[in-house]
Amino acid sequence: MTTETKRNWKPATALVHGGTLRSAFGETSEAMYLTQGFVYDSAEAAEARFKGEAPGFIYSRYANPTVDMFEKRMCELEGAEDARATASGMAAVSAALLCSAKAGDHVVAARALFGSCRWVVETLMPKYGIETTLVDGTDIEAWKQAVRPNTRLFFLESPTNPTLEVIDIAAVAAIANECGAKLVVDNVFATPLQQKPLELGAHIVVYSATKHIDGQGRCLGGIVLSDKKWIDEKLHDFFRHTGPSLSPFNAWTLLKGLETLPLRVRQQTETAARVAGHLACHSSIARVIYPGRNDHPQADIIARQMKGGSTLICFEVKGGKPAAFSFENALDIIRISNNLGDAKSLVTHPATTTHKNLSEEARLELGINPGTVRLSVGLEDADDLIDDIDRALARAA
Ligand SMILES: *Cc1c(COP(=O)(O)O)cnc(C)c1O
Repeated sequence: MTTETKRNWKPATALVHGGTLRSAFGETSEAMYLTQGFVYDSAEAAEARFKGEAPGFIYSRYANPTVDMFEKRMCELEGAEDARATASGMAAVSAALLCSAKAGDHVVAARALFGSCRWVVETLMPKYGIETTLVDGTDIEAWKQAVRPNTRLFFLESPTNPTLEVIDIAAVAAIANECGAKLVVDNVFATPLQQKPLELGAHIVVYSATKHIDGQGRCLGGIVLSDKKWIDEKLHDFFRHTGPSLSPFNAWTLLKGLETLPLRVRQQTETAARVAGHLACHSSIARVIYPGRNDHPQADIIARQMKGGSTLICFEVKGGKPAAFSFENALDIIRISNNLGDAKSLVTHPATTTHKNLSEEARLELGINPGTVRLSVGLEDADDLIDDIDRALARAA
């Protein structure tokens, strides 16, 4: 077997060749090793592998060659030393948080989190004796005030779902470093191309690969990336024994997704910027939040911290829930779905779907109003999407 090793490739090159493990057949496309286990030439060979004295795979819950390629390719892109791929984004988030906290520890997290992430922090972790505090992530002073002697972890998502709030990662990382806590960043909305949390000082990065990394609505997946020491000391045993492993089939699909990630994200971002500009001038729209526009509330942080805008747009339709529903129902090309990052443009009404479990008060605190709509821009032609939106807004009005 031969491995493609790092040669200071730029992202587009690393995403096509990085981490490739080529078998003796010299296949062009990455091989799919759809196997649970591996055989040994002798009992001695098995013993040596279990002792860690000989290299090689043991069992696909621990590691698998196709999954290994996906992990290595993601490490090259992210500039991380090591990674573990998981069956879903939530498996990545919960493994990253639970492997590094114990009863009596304290976690500080931004309150604007993906629904399931917020449940893990707010409901699950306290059940195991881990105290949590939720703060307004954009308020740097609030992070400082929340620190206690037992604070071990910081957790945030930026841009946030669905209101695309942007948090100053470097400033939060500095507070984490001061109190000896690790900062975990959920970088899904930014994608590994638009924002580099490790370069900004974060210690651990997590992704739902279900989103832009697959990008074509097929497989669930996730990944946790960090330095080798943290993976070895905190994640390694937790991962092996709790089993959130990614299937080789899904890893193969995600590897193929990575090849086209830069093309897709670039095009989807360009189209989203055009659609956002159009919405901002529309009389039926009360407000548009789009990272990349000068009127974004954290435009200055975005300029420092992100390399590009977003494939997502958040906007408020005038007329509240009835208008938002009429708008969604009148769309033709853009489909109603809670998913995002897909080649197909998808629209969702957060208050009644992804964020329905929050109280009305908590939703308003996050800026999720009855008229708020989240749009994930796909690979369709920008003019067709704008026509679809205009027609639907006209019918809703
Ligand atoms: C989708 C998503 C997750 C969860 O990922 P799954 O693959 O659905 O488990 C976590 N965080 C963010 C920001 C997401 O968008």
